[in-house]
Amino acid sequence: MTFATLGLIEPLLRSLETLGYQTPTPVQAQAIPAVLAGRDLMAAAQTGTGKTAGFALPLLQLLAMEGPKVTANSVRALILVPTRELAEQVHEAVRQYAENLPLRTYAVYGGVSINPQMMKLRSGVDLLVATPGRLLDLFRQNALKFNQLQTLVLDEADRMLDLGFSEELANIYRALPKKRQTLLFSATFSDDIRLLAGQMLNDPLSIEVSPRNVAANTVKQWIVTVDKKRKPELFVHLMRKGKWKQVLVFAKTRNGVDALVEKLQGLGINADGIHGDKPQATRQRALDRFKASEVQILVATDVAARGLDIEDLPLVVNFDLPIVAEDYIHRIGRTGRAGSTGEAISLVCADEVNLLSAIEMLTRQTLKRQNEPDFEPEHRVPDTDASGQVVKKPKKPKKPKASGGGGKRNLGKWVDSGEVAPAELSIKPVRKVPVFNTGPRKRKP
Ligand code: AMP
Repeated sequence: MTFATLGLIEPLLRSLETLGYQTPTPVQAQAIPAVLAGRDLMAAAQTGTGKTAGFALPLLQLLAMEGPKVTANSVRALILVPTRELAEQVHEAVRQYAENLPLRTYAVYGGVSINPQMMKLRSGVDLLVATPGRLLDLFRQNALKFNQLQTLVLDEADRMLDLGFSEELANIYRALPKKRQTLLFSATFSDDIRLLAGQMLNDPLSIEVSPRNVAANTVKQWIVTVDKKRKPELFVHLMRKGKWKQVLVFAKTRNGVDALVEKLQGLGINADGIHGDKPQATRQRALDRFKASEVQILVATDVAARGLDIEDLPLVVNFDLPIVAEDYIHRIGRTGRAGSTGEAISLVCADEVNLLSAIEMLTRQTLKRQNEPDFEPEHRVPDTDASGQVVKKPKKPKKPKASGGGGKRNLGKWVDSGEVAPAELSIKPVRKVPVFNTGPRKRKP
Protein backbone atom coordinates (compact mmCIF):
# COMPACT_ATOMS: atom_id res chain seq x y z
CA MET A 1 0.00 0.00 0.00
CA THR A 2 1.19 3.53 -0.77
CA PHE A 3 0.04 7.01 0.17
CA ALA A 4 -1.09 7.46 -3.45
CA THR A 5 -3.43 4.48 -3.24
CA LEU A 6 -5.01 6.03 -0.14
CA GLY A 7 -6.16 8.86 -2.38
CA LEU A 8 -3.79 11.64 -1.32
CA ILE A 9 -3.17 14.40 -3.81
CA GLU A 10 0.14 15.08 -5.50
CA PRO A 11 1.29 18.12 -3.45
CA LEU A 12 0.97 16.03 -0.28
CA LEU A 13 2.74 13.07 -1.88
CA ARG A 14 5.63 15.37 -2.75
CA SER A 15 5.91 16.55 0.86
CA LEU A 16 5.90 12.96 2.07
CA GLU A 17 8.62 12.07 -0.37
CA THR A 18 10.74 14.94 0.97
CA LEU A 19 10.13 13.68 4.52
CA GLY A 20 11.06 10.13 3.52
CA TYR A 21 7.69 8.58 4.43
CA GLN A 22 7.40 5.59 2.11
CA THR A 23 4.60 3.46 3.46
CA PRO A 24 1.54 4.48 5.46
CA THR A 25 1.52 3.23 9.05
CA PRO A 26 -1.55 1.14 10.07
CA VAL A 27 -3.35 4.07 11.68
CA GLN A 28 -2.70 6.19 8.59
CA ALA A 29 -3.95 3.43 6.29
CA GLN A 30 -7.20 3.34 8.22
CA ALA A 31 -7.69 6.99 9.07
CA ILE A 32 -6.78 8.73 5.82
CA PRO A 33 -9.54 7.27 3.61
CA ALA A 34 -12.11 7.62 6.41
CA VAL A 35 -11.30 11.30 7.01
CA LEU A 36 -11.27 11.99 3.28
CA ALA A 37 -14.74 10.42 3.10
CA GLY A 38 -15.91 12.92 5.71
CA ARG A 39 -16.45 10.42 8.53
CA ASP A 40 -16.22 11.15 12.23
CA LEU A 41 -13.55 9.04 13.90
CA MET A 42 -12.44 7.65 17.21
CA ALA A 43 -8.95 6.34 16.56
CA ALA A 44 -6.81 4.52 19.10
CA ALA A 45 -3.25 3.75 18.14
CA GLN A 46 -0.09 3.21 20.08
CA THR A 47 2.15 6.17 20.73
CA GLY A 48 4.64 7.02 18.02
CA THR A 49 2.80 5.24 15.23
CA GLY A 50 2.07 8.23 13.04
CA LYS A 51 -1.25 9.52 14.38
CA THR A 52 -0.44 13.12 13.50
CA ALA A 53 -0.11 12.41 9.79
CA GLY A 54 -3.17 10.16 10.11
CA PHE A 55 -5.38 13.18 10.70
CA ALA A 56 -3.28 16.05 9.33
CA LEU A 57 -2.79 14.74 5.77
CA PRO A 58 -6.46 14.13 4.90
CA LEU A 59 -7.45 17.29 6.74
CA LEU A 60 -5.09 19.39 4.65
CA GLN A 61 -6.40 17.71 1.52
CA LEU A 62 -10.01 18.50 2.41
CA LEU A 63 -9.07 22.11 3.14
CA ALA A 64 -7.22 22.42 -0.15
CA MET A 65 -9.90 20.77 -2.27
CA GLU A 66 -13.18 21.82 -0.66
CA GLY A 67 -14.92 24.72 0.97
CA PRO A 68 -14.72 28.49 0.66
CA LYS A 69 -11.64 30.66 1.08
CA VAL A 70 -11.00 31.50 4.70
CA THR A 71 -12.29 34.93 5.77
CA ALA A 72 -10.89 37.40 8.33
CA ASN A 73 -10.43 35.99 11.84
CA SER A 74 -11.91 32.67 10.79
CA VAL A 75 -10.54 29.17 11.05
CA ARG A 76 -11.60 26.19 8.94
CA ALA A 77 -10.02 23.33 10.87
CA LEU A 78 -9.05 23.23 14.51
CA ILE A 79 -6.69 20.77 16.20
CA LEU A 80 -6.87 20.91 19.99
CA VAL A 81 -3.95 19.54 22.00
CA PRO A 82 -3.35 19.41 25.77
CA THR A 83 0.10 21.05 26.00
CA ARG A 84 1.95 23.96 24.45
CA GLU A 85 4.89 21.82 23.41
CA LEU A 86 2.56 19.46 21.60
CA ALA A 87 0.91 22.42 19.85
CA GLU A 88 4.32 23.44 18.50
CA GLN A 89 5.18 19.91 17.47
CA VAL A 90 1.87 19.17 15.75
CA HIS A 91 2.00 22.49 13.94
CA GLU A 92 5.53 21.81 12.78
CA ALA A 93 4.39 18.48 11.30
CA VAL A 94 1.38 20.17 9.67
CA ARG A 95 3.62 22.87 8.24
CA GLN A 96 5.86 20.27 6.64
CA TYR A 97 2.94 18.31 5.18
CA ALA A 98 1.35 21.52 3.83
CA GLU A 99 4.57 22.78 2.26
CA ASN A 100 3.19 22.51 -1.29
CA LEU A 101 -0.36 23.65 -0.59
CA PRO A 102 -1.69 27.23 -0.61
CA LEU A 103 -2.99 26.98 2.96
CA ARG A 104 -2.39 29.11 6.02
CA THR A 105 -1.61 27.18 9.21
CA TYR A 106 -0.76 28.46 12.65
CA ALA A 107 -0.46 27.45 16.33
CA VAL A 108 -1.71 29.35 19.39
CA TYR A 109 -1.03 28.51 23.03
CA GLY A 110 -0.65 30.23 26.37
CA GLY A 111 2.44 31.38 28.19
CA VAL A 112 3.46 33.72 25.35
CA SER A 113 2.18 37.13 24.28
CA ILE A 114 -1.32 37.08 22.80
CA ASN A 115 -0.89 40.16 20.56
CA PRO A 116 1.15 38.59 17.75
CA GLN A 117 -1.37 35.75 17.72
CA MET A 118 -4.25 38.21 17.34
CA MET A 119 -2.45 39.94 14.48
CA LYS A 120 -1.80 36.67 12.72
CA LEU A 121 -5.41 35.57 13.00
CA ARG A 122 -6.70 38.76 11.39
CA SER A 123 -6.37 37.44 7.87
CA GLY A 124 -7.84 34.06 8.82
CA VAL A 125 -6.19 30.65 9.15
CA ASP A 126 -7.12 27.46 7.33
CA LEU A 127 -5.80 25.16 10.02
CA LEU A 128 -5.19 26.19 13.60
CA VAL A 129 -3.48 24.10 16.28
CA ALA A 130 -4.38 25.31 19.78
CA THR A 131 -4.42 24.64 23.48
CA PRO A 132 -7.91 25.18 24.91
CA GLY A 133 -7.23 28.06 27.32
CA ARG A 134 -5.59 30.39 24.80
CA LEU A 135 -8.13 29.48 22.14
CA LEU A 136 -10.92 30.65 24.44
CA ASP A 137 -9.07 33.85 25.28
CA LEU A 138 -8.74 34.64 21.60
CA PHE A 139 -12.37 33.80 20.96
CA ARG A 140 -13.57 35.99 23.83
CA GLN A 141 -11.50 38.86 22.54
CA ASN A 142 -13.13 38.48 19.13
CA ALA A 143 -9.86 37.53 17.50
CA LEU A 144 -11.43 34.26 16.33
CA LYS A 145 -14.70 33.19 14.73
CA PHE A 146 -15.82 29.63 14.17
CA ASN A 147 -18.56 30.11 11.59
CA GLN A 148 -16.33 28.59 8.88
CA LEU A 149 -15.15 25.69 11.00
CA GLN A 150 -15.62 22.37 9.21
CA THR A 151 -13.41 19.97 11.19
CA LEU A 152 -12.43 19.60 14.83
CA VAL A 153 -9.62 17.26 15.91
CA LEU A 154 -8.91 16.34 19.51
CA ASP A 155 -5.37 15.01 19.73
CA GLU A 156 -4.65 13.07 22.93
CA ALA A 157 -8.43 13.01 23.12
CA ASP A 158 -8.77 11.22 26.42
CA ARG A 159 -6.67 13.85 28.16
CA MET A 160 -8.64 16.60 26.44
CA LEU A 161 -11.93 15.13 27.56
CA ASP A 162 -11.05 14.56 31.19
CA LEU A 163 -12.19 16.93 33.88
CA GLY A 164 -9.07 19.06 33.83
CA PHE A 165 -10.17 20.48 30.50
CA SER A 166 -13.89 19.78 30.52
CA GLU A 167 -15.05 23.31 31.34
CA GLU A 168 -12.88 24.90 28.68
CA LEU A 169 -13.95 22.30 26.15
CA ALA A 170 -17.62 22.77 26.97
CA ASN A 171 -17.21 26.49 26.30
CA ILE A 172 -15.42 25.82 23.03
CA TYR A 173 -18.10 23.36 21.87
CA ARG A 174 -20.81 25.90 22.49
CA ALA A 175 -19.06 28.24 20.07
CA LEU A 176 -18.54 25.66 17.28
CA PRO A 177 -20.98 24.94 14.47
CA LYS A 178 -23.06 21.83 15.18
CA LYS A 179 -22.51 20.52 11.69
CA ARG A 180 -18.86 19.57 11.47
CA GLN A 181 -16.51 16.62 11.18
CA THR A 182 -15.00 15.52 14.52
CA LEU A 183 -11.92 13.33 14.88
CA LEU A 184 -10.65 11.93 18.19
CA PHE A 185 -7.15 10.48 18.33
CA SER A 186 -5.37 8.98 21.31
CA ALA A 187 -3.16 6.09 22.40
CA THR A 188 -5.52 5.34 25.24
CA PHE A 189 -9.28 5.59 25.63
CA SER A 190 -10.94 4.81 28.94
CA ASP A 191 -14.46 3.42 28.90
CA ASP A 192 -15.81 6.67 30.36
CA ILE A 193 -14.18 8.67 27.62
CA ARG A 194 -15.60 6.31 25.02
CA LEU A 195 -19.08 7.00 26.34
CA LEU A 196 -18.51 10.72 26.41
CA ALA A 197 -16.97 10.67 22.96
CA GLY A 198 -20.00 8.81 21.66
CA GLN A 199 -22.07 11.92 22.34
CA MET A 200 -19.74 14.18 20.40
CA LEU A 201 -19.49 12.12 17.26
CA ASN A 202 -21.86 11.57 14.39
CA ASP A 203 -22.06 7.97 13.19
CA PRO A 204 -18.35 7.51 13.95
CA LEU A 205 -15.93 4.86 12.89
CA SER A 206 -13.82 3.38 15.62
CA ILE A 207 -10.32 2.51 14.53
CA GLU A 208 -8.09 0.37 16.68
CA VAL A 209 -4.77 -0.65 15.34
CA SER A 210 -3.52 -2.46 18.43
CA PRO A 211 -4.85 -3.96 21.62
CA ARG A 212 -6.26 -1.24 23.80
CA ASN A 213 -4.14 0.51 26.39
CA VAL A 214 -0.78 -1.05 25.68
CA ALA A 215 2.57 0.51 25.03
CA ALA A 216 4.50 -0.26 21.88
CA ASN A 217 6.20 -3.63 22.22
CA THR A 218 9.42 -2.00 21.10
CA VAL A 219 9.83 -0.65 24.65
CA LYS A 220 11.60 -2.91 27.15
CA GLN A 221 10.11 -2.20 30.56
CA TRP A 222 11.31 -3.04 34.05
CA ILE A 223 11.24 -1.71 37.57
CA VAL A 224 13.72 -1.32 40.39
CA THR A 225 12.32 -1.29 43.91
CA VAL A 226 13.89 1.17 46.33
CA ASP A 227 13.11 3.19 49.44
CA LYS A 228 11.60 6.55 48.58
CA LYS A 229 14.39 8.63 50.14
CA ARG A 230 17.05 6.75 48.18
CA LYS A 231 15.54 7.35 44.74
CA PRO A 232 17.88 10.23 43.79
CA GLU A 233 20.92 8.20 44.82
CA LEU A 234 19.68 5.16 42.89
CA PHE A 235 19.00 7.28 39.83
CA VAL A 236 22.56 8.63 39.78
CA HIS A 237 23.94 5.13 40.41
CA LEU A 238 21.94 3.60 37.52
CA MET A 239 22.85 6.50 35.28
CA ARG A 240 26.55 6.00 35.84
CA LYS A 241 26.38 2.24 35.71
CA GLY A 242 24.34 2.23 32.49
CA LYS A 243 26.30 5.15 30.98
CA TRP A 244 23.00 6.79 30.11
CA LYS A 245 23.33 9.35 27.36
CA GLN A 246 19.90 10.86 26.86
CA VAL A 247 17.15 10.26 29.37
CA LEU A 248 13.67 11.69 29.82
CA VAL A 249 12.75 11.44 33.51
CA PHE A 250 9.25 11.82 34.91
CA ALA A 251 8.64 13.06 38.43
CA LYS A 252 5.27 13.46 40.08
CA THR A 253 5.37 17.10 41.15
CA ARG A 254 6.89 20.39 40.07
CA ASN A 255 8.89 20.49 43.31
CA GLY A 256 10.07 16.96 42.62
CA VAL A 257 11.32 18.04 39.19
CA ASP A 258 13.17 21.03 40.61
CA ALA A 259 14.72 19.01 43.45
CA LEU A 260 16.04 16.31 41.12
CA VAL A 261 17.39 18.81 38.60
CA GLU A 262 19.13 20.69 41.38
CA LYS A 263 20.66 17.49 42.73
CA LEU A 264 21.88 16.40 39.29
CA GLN A 265 23.27 19.81 38.41
CA GLY A 266 25.00 19.87 41.80
CA LEU A 267 26.80 16.72 40.74
CA GLY A 268 27.88 18.36 37.51
CA ILE A 269 25.35 16.42 35.42
CA ASN A 270 23.89 18.20 32.42
CA ALA A 271 20.22 18.29 33.44
CA ASP A 272 17.26 20.58 32.95
CA GLY A 273 13.60 20.48 33.89
CA ILE A 274 10.18 21.35 32.51
CA HIS A 275 6.90 21.76 34.33
CA GLY A 276 3.83 23.95 34.35
CA ASP A 277 5.29 26.67 36.61
CA LYS A 278 8.08 27.57 34.19
CA PRO A 279 7.66 30.26 31.54
CA GLN A 280 6.81 28.84 28.16
CA ALA A 281 9.99 30.10 26.51
CA THR A 282 12.07 28.30 29.17
CA ARG A 283 10.06 25.12 28.73
CA GLN A 284 10.43 25.14 24.96
CA ARG A 285 14.13 25.95 25.15
CA ALA A 286 14.79 23.07 27.56
CA LEU A 287 12.89 20.71 25.27
CA ASP A 288 14.65 21.94 22.12
CA ARG A 289 18.05 21.59 23.78
CA PHE A 290 17.16 18.09 24.94
CA LYS A 291 16.03 17.14 21.43
CA ALA A 292 19.31 18.52 20.08
CA SER A 293 21.21 16.41 22.68
CA GLU A 294 22.59 19.56 24.31
CA VAL A 295 20.90 18.52 27.56
CA GLN A 296 21.51 14.97 28.74
CA ILE A 297 18.78 14.55 31.34
CA LEU A 298 15.40 16.23 31.02
CA VAL A 299 13.24 15.94 34.12
CA ALA A 300 9.55 16.68 33.62
CA THR A 301 6.09 16.40 35.07
CA ASP A 302 3.38 14.81 32.96
CA VAL A 303 3.34 17.99 30.90
CA ALA A 304 5.83 16.07 28.73
CA ALA A 305 4.03 12.73 28.84
CA ARG A 306 1.83 13.24 25.84
CA GLY A 307 2.68 13.06 22.22
CA LEU A 308 6.15 14.59 22.26
CA ASP A 309 8.29 13.14 19.51
CA ILE A 310 11.96 12.99 20.46
CA GLU A 311 13.90 11.27 17.75
CA ASP A 312 15.58 8.04 18.85
CA LEU A 313 15.12 8.70 22.55
CA PRO A 314 16.63 5.56 24.09
CA LEU A 315 15.36 5.74 27.66
CA VAL A 316 12.50 6.95 29.82
CA VAL A 317 12.80 6.78 33.60
CA ASN A 318 9.80 7.04 35.90
CA PHE A 319 11.43 8.56 38.95
CA ASP A 320 7.91 8.48 40.40
CA LEU A 321 5.05 6.40 39.04
CA PRO A 322 2.20 8.41 37.55
CA ILE A 323 -0.96 8.92 39.60
CA VAL A 324 -3.10 7.86 36.66
CA ALA A 325 -2.14 4.50 35.21
CA GLU A 326 -2.74 5.42 31.58
CA ASP A 327 -0.14 8.19 31.84
CA TYR A 328 2.43 5.40 32.21
CA ILE A 329 1.68 4.34 28.65
CA HIS A 330 2.02 7.89 27.38
CA ARG A 331 5.24 8.50 29.30
CA ILE A 332 7.04 5.41 28.10
CA GLY A 333 5.68 6.04 24.62
CA ARG A 334 8.23 8.83 24.29
CA THR A 335 10.74 6.08 23.55
CA GLY A 336 10.54 3.17 21.10
CA ARG A 337 8.88 5.42 18.53
CA ALA A 338 8.52 4.93 14.78
CA GLY A 339 9.71 1.33 15.02
CA SER A 340 12.92 1.99 16.99
CA THR A 341 13.58 0.30 20.31
CA GLY A 342 13.66 1.85 23.75
CA GLU A 343 13.80 1.16 27.44
CA ALA A 344 11.58 2.31 30.30
CA ILE A 345 12.72 1.96 33.89
CA SER A 346 10.54 2.79 36.88
CA LEU A 347 11.89 3.41 40.37
CA VAL A 348 9.19 2.10 42.67
CA CYS A 349 8.89 2.54 46.43
CA ALA A 350 6.46 0.83 48.83
CA ASP A 351 4.11 3.83 48.79
CA GLU A 352 3.57 3.31 45.10
CA VAL A 353 2.46 -0.30 45.15
CA ASN A 354 -1.14 0.52 44.27
CA LEU A 355 -0.02 2.66 41.36
CA LEU A 356 2.19 -0.18 40.16
CA SER A 357 -0.66 -2.63 40.43
CA ALA A 358 -2.95 -0.30 38.45
CA ILE A 359 -0.35 0.02 35.69
CA GLU A 360 0.16 -3.73 35.48
CA MET A 361 -3.56 -4.32 35.32
CA LEU A 362 -4.07 -1.67 32.67
CA THR A 363 -1.22 -2.92 30.50
CA ARG A 364 -1.97 -6.56 31.25
CA GLN A 365 1.60 -7.40 32.15
CA THR A 366 3.64 -7.97 35.27
CA LEU A 367 6.60 -5.64 35.13
CA LYS A 368 9.91 -7.39 35.56
CA ARG A 369 11.67 -6.51 38.80
CA GLN A 370 15.38 -6.05 38.81
CA ASN A 371 16.99 -5.61 42.21
CA GLU A 372 19.92 -3.30 42.48
CA PRO A 373 22.50 -4.55 45.01
CA ASP A 374 22.97 -2.06 47.88
CA PHE A 375 19.63 -0.45 47.12
CA GLU A 376 17.25 -3.19 48.29
CA PRO A 377 14.48 -1.35 50.09
CA GLU A 378 13.90 -1.60 53.83
CA HIS A 379 10.22 -1.02 53.08
CA ARG A 380 9.55 -3.92 50.79
CA VAL A 381 7.33 -3.31 47.76
CA PRO A 382 4.69 -6.07 47.95
CA ASP A 383 4.41 -8.40 44.97
CA THR A 384 1.96 -7.40 42.29
CA ASP A 385 0.75 -8.87 39.05
CA ALA A 386 -1.46 -8.08 36.10
CA SER A 387 -4.55 -9.39 37.92
CA GLY A 388 -4.45 -6.37 40.22
CA GLN A 389 -3.45 -8.48 43.22
CA VAL A 390 -1.18 -6.86 45.76
CA VAL A 391 0.33 -9.61 47.85
CA LYS A 392 1.11 -8.24 51.27
CA LYS A 393 3.41 -10.23 53.49
CA PRO A 394 1.48 -11.10 56.70
CA LYS A 395 4.62 -10.78 58.80
CA LYS A 396 5.12 -7.09 58.06
CA PRO A 397 3.96 -5.04 61.03
CA LYS A 398 3.24 -1.91 58.97
CA LYS A 399 1.20 -1.85 55.79
CA PRO A 400 2.56 0.30 52.99
CA LYS A 401 0.77 3.62 52.73
CA ALA A 402 -1.72 3.70 49.88
CA SER A 403 -0.81 7.09 48.47
CA GLY A 404 -2.04 6.10 45.03
CA GLY A 405 -5.74 6.57 45.56
CA GLY A 406 -6.18 8.03 42.10
CA GLY A 407 -4.55 5.07 40.43
CA LYS A 408 -6.40 2.60 42.54
CA ARG A 409 -9.71 4.20 41.72
CA ASN A 410 -9.04 3.55 38.09
CA LEU A 411 -8.65 -0.17 38.48
CA GLY A 412 -12.22 -1.07 37.82
CA LYS A 413 -12.55 1.28 34.92
CA TRP A 414 -9.72 0.81 32.57
CA VAL A 415 -9.83 -2.89 31.93
CA ASP A 416 -12.61 -5.35 31.40
CA SER A 417 -12.30 -8.94 30.41
CA GLY A 418 -13.71 -8.27 26.97
CA GLU A 419 -11.04 -5.74 26.27
CA VAL A 420 -8.32 -8.08 25.15
CA ALA A 421 -8.66 -6.94 21.58
CA PRO A 422 -6.98 -8.72 18.70
CA ALA A 423 -3.79 -7.15 17.48
CA GLU A 424 -5.05 -6.86 13.94
CA LEU A 425 -6.87 -3.86 12.54
CA SER A 426 -10.52 -3.51 13.24
CA ILE A 427 -13.05 -0.91 12.23
CA LYS A 428 -16.39 -0.99 13.92
CA PRO A 429 -19.21 1.45 14.46
CA VAL A 430 -19.38 3.10 17.86
CA ARG A 431 -22.61 3.10 19.80
CA LYS A 432 -23.85 6.54 20.82
CA VAL A 433 -24.55 6.67 24.54
CA PRO A 434 -26.41 9.62 26.04
CA VAL A 435 -24.46 9.82 29.29
CA PHE A 436 -22.19 12.55 30.51
CA ASN A 437 -19.77 11.00 32.94
CA THR A 438 -16.23 12.20 33.06
CA GLY A 439 -14.74 10.25 35.96
CA PRO A 440 -12.33 11.49 38.59
CA ARG A 441 -10.51 14.81 38.36
CA LYS A 442 -6.90 14.47 37.36
CA ARG A 443 -4.08 16.66 38.49
CA LYS A 444 -2.83 19.13 35.94
CA PRO A 445 0.85 18.51 35.29
P1 AMP B 1 3.45 10.55 15.68
O1 AMP B 1 2.93 9.28 16.25
O2 AMP B 1 2.47 11.24 14.81
O3 AMP B 1 4.04 11.46 16.74
O4 AMP B 1 4.68 10.16 14.70
C1 AMP B 1 5.84 9.50 15.16
C2 AMP B 1 7.01 9.69 14.24
O5 AMP B 1 6.87 8.88 13.07
C3 AMP B 1 7.22 11.10 13.74
O6 AMP B 1 8.60 11.41 13.81
C4 AMP B 1 6.79 11.08 12.30
O7 AMP B 1 7.50 12.00 11.51
C5 AMP B 1 7.12 9.65 11.89
N1 AMP B 1 6.21 9.10 10.85
C6 AMP B 1 4.87 9.22 10.83
N2 AMP B 1 4.34 8.55 9.77
C7 AMP B 1 5.38 8.00 9.11
C8 AMP B 1 5.50 7.17 7.93
N3 AMP B 1 4.42 6.78 7.24
N4 AMP B 1 6.72 6.79 7.55
C9 AMP B 1 7.81 7.18 8.26
N5 AMP B 1 7.79 7.93 9.37
C10 AMP B 1 6.59 8.34 9.81
